[in-house]
Amino acid sequence: MGRRKQRRSRLQREQKAQRAQSHLTTILLHPLEHPRDVVESAAVHLSKVSQRHRLPLPSLVRSRVCRKCWGSHSFTAQFRVRIKAGQRIHTCLHCGYIRRYGAGPKAHRIARINGRSD
Ligand SMILES: [Zn+2]
Repeated sequence: MGRRKQRRSRLQREQKAQRAQSHLTTILLHPLEHPRDVVESAAVHLSKVSQRHRLPLPSLVRSRVCRKCWGSHSFTAQFRVRIKAGQRIHTCLHCGYIRRYGAGPKAHRIARINGRSD
C-alpha cells in the first residue's frame, strides 16, 4: 500500500463519505421501495463507510441497524422490540444482540418515586 502525498483533500473525502451516508440512509428509511437485499447491503455499507471515515451514524438510522452483525433492522421480522422497566429493548434476530434505549430502570424508578413498587 503506497502512501502518496496528500492524495485528495480531507474535506473532499469527508464530503464524499457523507454523501454516501445520506444515500444509504434514505434506502434504509424507505425499505419498501428497494429490493430486500439492497436494503440489507445498505446497512452493511453504511457501517463500513461510517467506520472507515470515522463518522457518526446518522441518528435516523441508528436504531435501524444492528451494531454487532450490521444486519438491517428495517423490517420487523428482523428484530424484536420490548418495553421493559422503562427501556426500549431491541433484540437482533440475526445474532441475538440486545440493545437498550432509554435511561434505564433506575431513572425510571426515580421518575415515578411515588408510583407502584417495581
Ligand atoms: Zn445482529
